[in-house]
Amino acid sequence: MATRKLSFYRATILNPLNDKECEFWKDGVLVTQKGSDGHHRILEIVEYHHACEKYVEDFGASNLYEFPGKLIIPSFFDMHFHWVQDDVRTMPKDSLLTWLEKYTFPAEHRFSSKSYAQRKAKVFFKKLLSTGTLGGACYSSIHEHALEAAMKEVKGDVLVGNVLMTMNSPDNLTQSPKEAQSLALKLMKKFKHRYVLTPRFAISTDPVTMKETSRFANKNKIFKQSHLSETTSEIDFVMSLYKEKAGFKSVKNYTEIYHKVGMLGPRSLMGHAIHLSSKELDLLKKTKTSLVHCPTSNAPHKELGLGSGLFDFKKVEQKKISWALGSDIGGGPFLSMLDVMQSFVRQNKKAKKKNATYIKALYRATLAGAEILGVDKKSGNLGKGKEANFIVIPLKDKRFKDAETCLFKLLSAEKKRVRFDDYVEATFYRGLQVFKRS
Ligand SMILES: [Zn+2]
Repeated sequence: MATRKLSFYRATILNPLNDKECEFWKDGVLVTQKGSDGHHRILEIVEYHHACEKYVEDFGASNLYEFPGKLIIPSFFDMHFHWVQDDVRTMPKDSLLTWLEKYTFPAEHRFSSKSYAQRKAKVFFKKLLSTGTLGGACYSSIHEHALEAAMKEVKGDVLVGNVLMTMNSPDNLTQSPKEAQSLALKLMKKFKHRYVLTPRFAISTDPVTMKETSRFANKNKIFKQSHLSETTSEIDFVMSLYKEKAGFKSVKNYTEIYHKVGMLGPRSLMGHAIHLSSKELDLLKKTKTSLVHCPTSNAPHKELGLGSGLFDFKKVEQKKISWALGSDIGGGPFLSMLDVMQSFVRQNKKAKKKNATYIKALYRATLAGAEILGVDKKSGNLGKGKEANFIVIPLKDKRFKDAETCLFKLLSAEKKRVRFDDYVEATFYRGLQVFKRS
């Protein structure tokens, strides 16, 4: 009845629970209910024929949405992306450090114009909705107004932080340590838990700035993020730099540098984390730091990535370190987490690493991110009582009987399709349709 404010979404439905389990309804109905705050939350998911018995009196033309031959899954968490790098994601990537200098830094400098930043934010965050991402952690440029523009346009559980750059950076993107620190403090106070403290990486942010700002973030339970051990030349450069710095002469590895400045911890997200020793993994475990794996960014050059190597998820899981997937736009070429999932499975299969299943990929692209950000009680999957945050995707091959084969058919059998950036048909946020492909 209308007073119950129910809505019904009929489709094939997948609900990821963990690395191994994913609930599956071939012909299911997602039932949502509108709360007094106007947000729609999930009441339950049932088989269509059960829904017909149970809700027949509630079904109406205005609240039953049928998506025959389509798939409903939770919206994505992209745990590492740079919204200000959307224009450089397909630029040539000979190496990380030259790609940064040649394309990325000039692109980020353009955000020094306030009107440009505002215009770009409107376009980018609309595009993000069109790929079905409603959660995650995002890097902005150094500029205050670019961060403000992103905060204004972004929807969902997405943290955003302006990068701090105080050394080894182009002049037009270099802040003094004092400037970087006072801006980060100001923005942490203003945006609180929507903000993520973002020293770009140990090469471009001086240790005093990292230490001073981390102290405030840790005290106020604000998340922090940075890049760790993406390429071997980056590691060599970091180690040579810090060997010369007072207080860091005896530091043995990259991870220890972040530890010394207070950057590790239960609210810390370290992107890439490919080339790590066992000692470094122990330190990450001890500090409860989370890692973000960006397979499309780390993929070989011929797949438009930076060729940085393959994240060893098995070792990371053996150490019980939490991790989730990220697109790393623009090191990563594709905004869609469907591409990221596909690349994760494909690269690991090629390397003969077992257990890189599609179910795992879906979990790591959704609920795992929500768990890391501590918002899994209200989002991350289609569990009862959570916000109705989900996406609708077309399924061309319908010969499947379980979740793994369904995702395989979607992501692998359609490998002739080049990309998934324009694939999602609709995105729902708290039950409201915020994107529809026309
Ligand atoms: Zn990155």
